[in-house]
Amino acid sequence: MTKPASPKRAPQMTLADTRSFLEALARAHPDAKSDLLYTDNFSLLVAVVMSAQTTDAAVNKVTPALFARAPTPAAMAALTVEEIGQYIRTIGLWQAKARNVHALSVQLVEQHGGEVPRDRASLEALPGVGRKTANVVLNVAFGEAAMAVDTHIFRLGNRTGIAPGKTVREVEDKLVKRIPPDLLRDSHHWLILHGRYVCKARTPDCWRCVAAEWCRAKVKTPPPGLKPSRAAAGATPPAADG
Ligand code: SF4
Repeated sequence: MTKPASPKRAPQMTLADTRSFLEALARAHPDAKSDLLYTDNFSLLVAVVMSAQTTDAAVNKVTPALFARAPTPAAMAALTVEEIGQYIRTIGLWQAKARNVHALSVQLVEQHGGEVPRDRASLEALPGVGRKTANVVLNVAFGEAAMAVDTHIFRLGNRTGIAPGKTVREVEDKLVKRIPPDLLRDSHHWLILHGRYVCKARTPDCWRCVAAEWCRAKVKTPPPGLKPSRAAAGATPPAADG
């Protein structure tokens, strides 16, 4: 697991403030969901594997045609790596991803009856599937108490105090432990959207943040035109897993 360098951390939020913070994000993003296109657990798994170090928009451009040709693990396993590669040449790391998608499809057919397994160990044993990808599948496909920590969520965990931690795993464990169960599944999307559009990496827009009341960042950025004394505390983002 990647260990980001010396993240600055806000004090930890109380449990009551954690709920209020997330409920404010929920009100701001009532329809939050994954931006990736998928229709079932298999297409979700493949789309998440393809999204490593690639934007969701780029993945969504290539997956519909691939899924139309190979909608099941058996159909995907029947393709060659080269055939899969022809569909995904525009995304980053496409050759490795073509190999992984083929190999994981073979493994699903041979070891899991053509189904996406529900347990973490089996998911992480699939080629190209790391802890973050397994967490997305466990959370989105199976509704499990799992949290995939990407660069946005790691930053927010530390900057806001919702889950301060030196490592991605520490932030993940705190989020799973401290977020109320009824909010955990959707929190992944709320936090990512908040990090992408408001609590941004370089300078957060605290002046228009719906959750500022509960955020523990020591310094909040003022509206444009007013000079901040210093930016809200940030943290070095982790690399994505595969
Ligand atoms: S107040 Fe600022 S630092 Fe805190 S969550 Fe909002 S945008 Fe992020």
